[in-house]
Amino acid sequence: MATSTIYARVPSEIKDKILELAKTTGKQQGETVTDLLSQGLQFPEQLKKLSQAQTSLQKQEELNRTLTTELEKVKTELRIARQTVDVAERAKGHLQRVLNTQVGTCTFQGCGAPINLYSFAYQQCPQGHTGTTKLFDEYQSAKGAGDFLVAGLAVIGGVALAAELLGDKSLQ
Ligand SMILES: [Zn+2]
Repeated sequence: MATSTIYARVPSEIKDKILELAKTTGKQQGETVTDLLSQGLQFPEQLKKLSQAQTSLQKQEELNRTLTTELEKVKTELRIARQTVDVAERAKGHLQRVLNTQVGTCTFQGCGAPINLYSFAYQQCPQGHTGTTKLFDEYQSAKGAGDFLVAGLAVIGGVALAAELLGDKSLQ
Protein backbone atom coordinates (compact mmCIF):
# COMPACT_ATOMS: atom_id res chain seq x y z
CA MET A 1 0.00 0.00 0.00
CA ALA A 2 1.44 3.41 -1.03
CA THR A 3 2.12 6.03 1.60
CA SER A 4 -0.28 8.42 -0.12
CA THR A 5 -3.12 5.89 0.19
CA ILE A 6 -2.52 5.51 3.92
CA TYR A 7 -2.18 9.24 4.29
CA ALA A 8 -5.58 9.75 2.67
CA ARG A 9 -7.19 7.82 5.54
CA VAL A 10 -5.52 9.89 8.24
CA PRO A 11 -8.02 12.20 10.02
CA SER A 12 -7.66 15.87 9.14
CA GLU A 13 -6.82 17.00 12.71
CA ILE A 14 -3.81 14.62 12.68
CA LYS A 15 -2.80 15.95 9.26
CA ASP A 16 -2.96 19.47 10.70
CA LYS A 17 -0.75 18.41 13.62
CA ILE A 18 1.76 16.85 11.21
CA LEU A 19 1.78 20.05 9.14
CA GLU A 20 2.27 22.13 12.29
CA LEU A 21 5.07 19.85 13.49
CA ALA A 22 6.77 19.97 10.05
CA LYS A 23 6.72 23.80 10.18
CA THR A 24 8.13 23.84 13.71
CA THR A 25 10.95 21.42 12.96
CA GLY A 26 11.62 22.82 9.45
CA LYS A 27 11.31 19.30 7.99
CA GLN A 28 9.31 18.00 5.01
CA GLN A 29 5.88 16.58 5.76
CA GLY A 30 6.95 13.13 4.53
CA GLU A 31 10.04 13.20 6.74
CA THR A 32 7.91 14.24 9.72
CA VAL A 33 5.54 11.32 9.08
CA THR A 34 8.51 8.93 8.89
CA ASP A 35 9.88 10.32 12.17
CA LEU A 36 6.51 9.90 13.86
CA LEU A 37 6.11 6.35 12.57
CA SER A 38 9.61 5.47 13.70
CA GLN A 39 8.90 6.90 17.17
CA GLY A 40 5.59 5.02 17.21
CA LEU A 41 7.37 1.76 16.40
CA GLN A 42 9.82 2.40 19.22
CA PHE A 43 7.02 3.08 21.67
CA PRO A 44 6.35 -0.56 22.77
CA GLU A 45 10.09 -1.01 23.34
CA GLN A 46 10.21 2.20 25.40
CA LEU A 47 7.15 1.07 27.32
CA LYS A 48 8.84 -2.25 28.08
CA LYS A 49 11.97 -0.43 29.29
CA LEU A 50 9.82 1.84 31.47
CA SER A 51 8.09 -1.19 32.98
CA GLN A 52 11.47 -2.84 33.66
CA ALA A 53 12.76 0.36 35.25
CA GLN A 54 9.68 0.54 37.48
CA THR A 55 10.12 -3.08 38.56
CA SER A 56 13.79 -2.47 39.24
CA LEU A 57 12.93 0.64 41.26
CA GLN A 58 10.38 -1.29 43.32
CA LYS A 59 12.96 -4.01 44.05
CA GLN A 60 15.50 -1.35 45.02
CA GLU A 61 13.01 0.35 47.33
CA GLU A 62 12.16 -3.00 48.92
CA LEU A 63 15.87 -3.70 49.41
CA ASN A 64 16.32 -0.23 50.94
CA ARG A 65 13.49 -0.90 53.40
CA THR A 66 15.05 -4.26 54.35
CA LEU A 67 18.46 -2.66 54.80
CA THR A 68 17.00 0.16 56.90
CA THR A 69 15.29 -2.41 59.14
CA GLU A 70 18.54 -4.39 59.43
CA LEU A 71 20.47 -1.22 60.22
CA GLU A 72 18.02 -0.30 62.99
CA LYS A 73 18.35 -3.81 64.44
CA VAL A 74 22.15 -3.59 64.43
CA LYS A 75 22.01 -0.09 65.99
CA THR A 76 19.81 -1.43 68.80
CA GLU A 77 22.15 -4.38 69.39
CA LEU A 78 25.12 -2.00 69.45
CA ARG A 79 23.35 0.27 71.95
CA ILE A 80 22.60 -2.68 74.25
CA ALA A 81 26.17 -3.96 73.92
CA ARG A 82 27.52 -0.50 74.85
CA GLN A 83 25.24 -0.33 77.90
CA THR A 84 26.44 -3.77 78.99
CA VAL A 85 30.06 -2.68 78.60
CA ASP A 86 29.31 0.54 80.57
CA VAL A 87 27.84 -1.49 83.44
CA ALA A 88 30.82 -3.88 83.38
CA GLU A 89 33.23 -0.90 83.33
CA ARG A 90 31.51 0.65 86.35
CA ALA A 91 31.52 -2.67 88.21
CA LYS A 92 35.18 -3.13 87.33
CA GLY A 93 36.02 0.39 88.57
CA HIS A 94 34.11 -0.17 91.79
CA LEU A 95 35.79 -3.52 92.41
CA GLN A 96 39.20 -2.02 91.71
CA ARG A 97 38.57 0.83 94.20
CA VAL A 98 37.43 -1.61 96.89
CA LEU A 99 40.39 -3.95 96.36
CA ASN A 100 42.85 -1.05 96.35
CA THR A 101 41.53 0.40 99.61
CA GLN A 102 44.43 0.50 102.06
CA VAL A 103 43.45 -1.20 105.30
CA GLY A 104 46.85 -1.38 107.03
CA THR A 105 50.61 -1.67 106.68
CA CYS A 106 53.17 -4.45 106.75
CA THR A 107 55.04 -4.68 110.05
CA PHE A 108 57.85 -6.92 108.86
CA GLN A 109 61.19 -5.35 109.93
CA GLY A 110 60.06 -1.84 109.07
CA CYS A 111 58.82 -2.86 105.60
CA GLY A 112 55.79 -0.58 106.05
CA ALA A 113 54.34 -1.49 102.66
CA PRO A 114 50.69 -0.52 102.30
CA ILE A 115 48.33 -3.44 102.63
CA ASN A 116 45.24 -3.12 100.55
CA LEU A 117 42.20 -5.34 100.76
CA TYR A 118 43.53 -7.57 98.01
CA SER A 119 46.83 -8.14 99.89
CA PHE A 120 44.95 -8.58 103.14
CA ALA A 121 42.75 -11.29 101.65
CA TYR A 122 45.86 -13.25 100.76
CA GLN A 123 47.65 -12.29 104.00
CA GLN A 124 50.68 -11.21 102.02
CA CYS A 125 52.28 -7.79 101.64
CA PRO A 126 53.40 -6.60 98.18
CA GLN A 127 56.97 -7.51 99.19
CA GLY A 128 55.92 -11.08 99.91
CA HIS A 129 55.89 -10.93 103.73
CA THR A 130 53.15 -13.09 105.16
CA GLY A 131 51.10 -12.71 108.32
CA THR A 132 52.67 -9.34 109.15
CA THR A 133 49.70 -7.07 108.47
CA LYS A 134 48.79 -4.39 111.00
CA LEU A 135 45.30 -3.08 110.32
CA PHE A 136 44.54 0.62 110.73
CA ASP A 137 42.65 1.49 113.94
CA GLU A 138 39.33 1.99 112.16
CA TYR A 139 39.52 -1.60 110.98
CA GLN A 140 40.65 -2.91 114.37
CA SER A 141 37.34 -2.40 116.15
CA ALA A 142 35.01 -5.32 115.77
CA LYS A 143 32.31 -3.13 114.26
CA GLY A 144 34.53 -1.28 111.81
CA ALA A 145 36.40 -4.35 110.68
CA GLY A 146 33.20 -6.32 110.50
CA ASP A 147 31.34 -3.80 108.37
CA PHE A 148 34.18 -3.08 106.04
CA LEU A 149 36.05 -6.34 105.80
CA VAL A 150 33.05 -8.59 105.57
CA ALA A 151 31.74 -6.47 102.71
CA GLY A 152 35.20 -6.30 101.20
CA LEU A 153 35.92 -9.98 101.59
CA ALA A 154 32.61 -10.76 99.97
CA VAL A 155 33.97 -8.85 97.03
CA ILE A 156 37.19 -10.87 97.21
CA GLY A 157 35.11 -13.78 96.02
CA GLY A 158 35.18 -11.95 92.74
CA VAL A 159 38.98 -11.68 92.76
CA ALA A 160 39.44 -14.36 90.15
CA LEU A 161 36.99 -12.53 87.95
CA ALA A 162 38.58 -9.20 88.77
CA ALA A 163 42.03 -10.53 87.97
CA GLU A 164 40.71 -11.70 84.67
CA LEU A 165 39.01 -8.37 83.97
CA LEU A 166 41.83 -6.12 85.10
CA GLY A 167 44.79 -8.27 84.25
CA ASP A 168 46.94 -9.63 87.10
CA LYS A 169 49.40 -6.72 87.03
CA SER A 170 46.81 -3.99 87.68
CA LEU A 171 45.83 -5.70 90.94
CA GLN A 172 49.35 -5.69 92.31
ZN1 LIG B 1 56.12 -6.35 103.96
